[in-house]
Amino acid sequence: MLIIFLLLGLIIGSFLNAVVYRLNAVESLMERSHCPHCKKQVRWFDNVPLLSFILLSAKCRDCGEKISWQYPAVELATGLVFALLGNYFFKVDDLATWMATAYYLVIFAILIVIFVYDLKYMEIPMLVLWLGVGVSLIYFIFADSQNFSVASSILNLKTISGILGGLIAGGFFYALAAYSKESWMGYGDAYLGLLIGLVAGWSNIFVTLLLAFTTGSLISVALIVVSKKTLKSQVPFAPFLISGVFLTLLLPKIFPQLQTYFLLFS
Ligand SMILES: [Zn+2]
Repeated sequence: MLIIFLLLGLIIGSFLNAVVYRLNAVESLMERSHCPHCKKQVRWFDNVPLLSFILLSAKCRDCGEKISWQYPAVELATGLVFALLGNYFFKVDDLATWMATAYYLVIFAILIVIFVYDLKYMEIPMLVLWLGVGVSLIYFIFADSQNFSVASSILNLKTISGILGGLIAGGFFYALAAYSKESWMGYGDAYLGLLIGLVAGWSNIFVTLLLAFTTGSLISVALIVVSKKTLKSQVPFAPFLISGVFLTLLLPKIFPQLQTYFLLFS
């Protein structure tokens, strides 16, 4: 089962690379992929995730231009993210987990696009972000309608919990952006906060923000030490927020003994 999720992730990862590229180049998603340098169409057998990158030794077959490491990295990362989600959320004999797993696969595919896009272009693709908000609300309303009588408190409803989390994180970042006149945080990050809070839910949002800020500052300090960045240079924040929400959802499943700590903060 794990291998199916991994392979699915590799294929979707390859598609997400194309989405990132075409969102920026404003090209149709339906076109066959081509080399960004010589514009020649990529042959179908050169389009196999990971494998083609290795077999072509990272060069275009037509013009010999180097292929960016971004392609295999995103494919591999999507493969691993899908394998982890499948492993910890999916149970073949429990139909409710099918819906939940499908939702997590779609939402993390969307978040990976935002992650890579922000890293590459220092900008949040708003169209993709609102797609994530829409997908989340549809899934939450569906899931709540299935469990309505079981939910003991209104705060346990996914829709309410998600909207609260979104307002907390989105509002917090919006305030930071407005107060600092966008020098600490952009308004794009505020909208991403809204989506991240929606996915995490109100009880998880504090752990998510804590993880995002800790990893964010550790990596920024590391980058300053190896002097790739200075204190003044901007570091995109979306990758940390997205890693934060992924860890918040996965860590207590991988290490059940962590659950107490997660509850402590929530
Ligand atoms: Zn080429």
